[in-house]
Amino acid sequence: MIKGLGVSGGSAVGVVALVAQPEPLPDEPPSTDPTGDLARVEEALEAVAARLDQTAESLSGDAAEMIAAAAAIARDPGLLEAVEGFLPTLGPAHALHAAVEGYAEQFEELGGYFAERITDLLDVGARAEALLLGRPMPGVPELSEPSVVIAHDLAPADTAVMDPALVVGIVTEAGGRTSHTAILASQRGIPAIVQAKGALGLDDGLRVGIDGDSGELVVDPDDAYLAEKENKRRARDRISERSGPGRTSDGHPVMLLANIGNVADAELAGAADVEGVGLFRTEFLHLSADTAPSVEKQSEEYGRVLTPFGSRPVTVRTLDAGADKPLAFADLGPEPNPALGRRGLRLMREREDLLDDQLAALAIAAADTGALVKVMAPMVATVEEATWFTERVHAAGLPVAGVMIEVPAAALRARHVLEVTDFASLGTNDLAQYTMAADRMVGELSDLLDPWQPAVLDVVAAACEGGRATGKPVGVCGESAGDPLMALVLTGLGVTSLSMSVQRVPMVRWALSQHTAQECVHLAEAARAAESAEAALAAVHAAASTELTDLL
Ligand code: PEP
Ligand code: MG
Repeated sequence: MIKGLGVSGGSAVGVVALVAQPEPLPDEPPSTDPTGDLARVEEALEAVAARLDQTAESLSGDAAEMIAAAAAIARDPGLLEAVEGFLPTLGPAHALHAAVEGYAEQFEELGGYFAERITDLLDVGARAEALLLGRPMPGVPELSEPSVVIAHDLAPADTAVMDPALVVGIVTEAGGRTSHTAILASQRGIPAIVQAKGALGLDDGLRVGIDGDSGELVVDPDDAYLAEKENKRRARDRISERSGPGRTSDGHPVMLLANIGNVADAELAGAADVEGVGLFRTEFLHLSADTAPSVEKQSEEYGRVLTPFGSRPVTVRTLDAGADKPLAFADLGPEPNPALGRRGLRLMREREDLLDDQLAALAIAAADTGALVKVMAPMVATVEEATWFTERVHAAGLPVAGVMIEVPAAALRARHVLEVTDFASLGTNDLAQYTMAADRMVGELSDLLDPWQPAVLDVVAAACEGGRATGKPVGVCGESAGDPLMALVLTGLGVTSLSMSVQRVPMVRWALSQHTAQECVHLAEAARAAESAEAALAAVHAAASTELTDLL
């Protein structure tokens, strides 16, 4: 068995389909016709971009945006200029290769969002090289039976076009909790595991079972394994039929909310049985914009996001620009440690115009739709910041303002922070990053970024204490809210709502319904009494209802 990090839930059995590593380039003499060769490289890059465009058109939402971003890389004039620079001394394929490598180094230095785009860049380069050399296209091989695709890492172009009927699972040796593979596989409902070291050593055609919840890849699964997975699948289908608001078995309410990033997500979540939106990541609408969107454009888009929720509350996060989510129009220049720099609310305080436009657009959209809009700020650390933001939101005519608790400083001082604002929402992705001093973009640090780390739970508990003292709501909108066992712990710590990707809601609803509020308190105590993340999870796993743990 190979153990990795499960990033998209569900299980399946299929045959191994290895994605070949790119072959070395053949020897090539230096170009004797740099103008002609430059034109050939440009043609190859344009052909790659055109194919990516075609793929993007057949998709929607984040998937389409990621592919469009890869097409934009293929058309980047800077890339072609770099090729031109190499052509007098290298042949066309080698010149393209050198240009791509140089670009990748620059992306690496820029870090954050750019570093995440390196896979796209290398993929674009490999495809254009294959065209230049008349070689077969790299990437996922043609599949004829249900397969588990295993790769070092996958480009979004690969993941987005996978047919879920044939690709029943995805496994990568690289990648992290927030990599493309994770986001796209979960959006497409394909079980996926990242950081699965040794998976590339498996032979093509071997039968394997994948479990995207536990992160396990089992070689040649036996009948008992298959029967167990089939039982789990049936039980999960039954659970999906449950409906209604989040409640523990003794009726303690915990709102079940959706995380969304665009209009397509809003339409999907609006039609689902959720009690509203706990996190609308507004910056996702603008990742590829070069200039700030106008108030009119924003209010029109926000209106389309709000409408599907009718009278249900929608919590909108103001632009969280910087670090892992850079926006071209909200860039204050390079910093040595972007995650610790002027990001989130810190950046908005230097660009008040952007915040004011966004609040104005939200106020218009709220008035037009009659929606119940709550507005919160990312990356708040102090009471002063919380006061500043809350006053500004109220002044814009939006009655409910809150803050995300993503920085331990705000969690430890939650009572004082909550005294000056209306609600708080815990961003456990960043809270883990800052509590453990582990960059969330570094896949190798996944163990430290585990929300089961007892120190992270202590910080969450401190924030909940502030909620109790002030009587103000404290929710969770980081990925941890969608983990059914963690949802019980968070409930026991006192959170009032859980916000997650919409597919995760049924399981969390069911987990809550199997435990009393007091049992959740005991589970939280067991987790906090543990000495490590593994021990905390094991303690909760052992004490939770077996009806639930049998399904995990
Ligand atoms: C978080 O940090 O937990 C969060 C919800 O925000 P994001 O992942 O968008 O930074
Ligand atoms: Mg965050």
